[in-house]
Amino acid sequence: MANASLYWFRQDLRLADLPGLIAASKSGQVIPVFIFDEALGGDWKLGGASQWWLHHSLQKLAADLRAIGSRLVLRRGETVHVIAQLLEETGAQNVFASRQYQPWADETEQGVRKVAESAGGAFKRYPGTLLFEPENIRTGGGTPFKVFTPFWRACLKQPAPAQPQPAPALTSPNEWPHSEVLDTWELCPKKPNWAQGWDTLWTPGEAGASTALNTFLDSHVDSYGDGRDFPAQPNTSRLSPFLKFGEISPRQIWWTAQNAKQRSPNEAGSIDKFLSEIGWREFCNHLVTQFPAMPDRAWNPKFEYFPWQRHGANLAAWQSGNTGYPIIDAGMRELWQTGFMHNRVRMVVASFLTKHLLMHWREGEQWFWDCLLDADLASNACSWQWVGGSGADASPYFRIFNPIAQGEKFDKSGVYTRHWVPELAEMPDKYLYKPWEAPELTLKAAGVELGKTYPNPIVDHREARETALEAYATLKNVAMA
Ligand code: FAD
Repeated sequence: MANASLYWFRQDLRLADLPGLIAASKSGQVIPVFIFDEALGGDWKLGGASQWWLHHSLQKLAADLRAIGSRLVLRRGETVHVIAQLLEETGAQNVFASRQYQPWADETEQGVRKVAESAGGAFKRYPGTLLFEPENIRTGGGTPFKVFTPFWRACLKQPAPAQPQPAPALTSPNEWPHSEVLDTWELCPKKPNWAQGWDTLWTPGEAGASTALNTFLDSHVDSYGDGRDFPAQPNTSRLSPFLKFGEISPRQIWWTAQNAKQRSPNEAGSIDKFLSEIGWREFCNHLVTQFPAMPDRAWNPKFEYFPWQRHGANLAAWQSGNTGYPIIDAGMRELWQTGFMHNRVRMVVASFLTKHLLMHWREGEQWFWDCLLDADLASNACSWQWVGGSGADASPYFRIFNPIAQGEKFDKSGVYTRHWVPELAEMPDKYLYKPWEAPELTLKAAGVELGKTYPNPIVDHREARETALEAYATLKNVAMA
């Protein structure tokens, strides 16, 4: 097939503003392909919640391609092998794709490059996943940044990201290769169907991403600066799963936000704050390209010697939202029931696991990996290490969130907590975050029987805090080479 190319979709499941697809469209016929490589990533292969999203996202992408007269070819198997097969079957020579930043991405790409070259063509890789390529952002001394604020300042000094491009027209091949049937991949859970109702909460796909961005910028961004820490309020964009699967590009977000600033200059502060959070996503990828072991090993090597504890029952209580600390339990149940958790609550539950329970941050990272729709290798690893104290530019280990005070401050009226922990719905505000201090009569009136209808706290806050600080003190004696 003369001048035919594969466009290899990865975590860039969109048609608009995709430089690699635009380049492919200019080169001749395009065969869009998605490969479900179950083993890719090893321990970090796609988690359960992400698989649910992927299923729906691929459905949408296939429909969007059909609407422009093209198709999505689905294949399951080892990536390089499948690409080699497809090149042979179709006679295509070139493979176009967007760059990805996971530690295993380079090796896979090298394999793809080899098979494309053997077919007489080339592997052509394009940006599109980040605003700024990590190797272009360097300190004055030419080294990568390790601290967020100067990193983001340096990004903002770069030429502005290019304007987003519309979806290209695609020329189809004369004959389509065989495509597998998405349902046979069984990406959605059945028995039990723990994702029941998620399709009423989320609209995966490019159109859903665009709606989420516009709704946020039109209706919520004005409260973002002050309100992003309050989990009961719809003040954040909830764009993270769309970004994870590349259903929207950071450039599209950047420019839509710049236009919103022009229209509403008094929202500029909130919009810049929002863009700086997109900056954190960039920073996490920047860190992982410097230290590819980040998902598994502490950035600060001293933390490899931290006396982490193993306690299966405590881990299970944390995972299932039964720690006896209402804000922790609310967050963990929100995660399980919706595939998402508000950022403030993510920080509080992560602090609780690593500091109150002294459990390794990797335990939490893995649980989030499986349960989060937005599970992203770089953001998840960096955030867990940030909270756990071992990361770059991390929150110091001795800063231990008080789960009672955090609830009282960020969910004062208890709307979020009572929703996810309905057994405390009738608790008065005064005792909502410390039901164990409530008088017997108050508990009775609220229908709460501690240890029966709602757990007693699995650890005592003050004691746990002291123990965590003692454990942290042991690191002072660790001598590093
Ligand atoms: P908004 O506040 O609207 O922010 C806009 C976008 O900026 C987000 O969609 C996200 O892409 C990015 N962003 C915001 N905050 C951060 C941050 N701290 N670090 C990196 N990027 C950020 N985010 C993920 O996308 N995937 C993860 O696996 C992930 N794991 C996390 C684990 C822990 C322990 C913690 C504390 C945070 C984690 N985050 C992760 C970061 C953050 O919680 C989410 O990005 C955010 O809650 C998503 O909600 P939003 O889209 O409404 O965010």
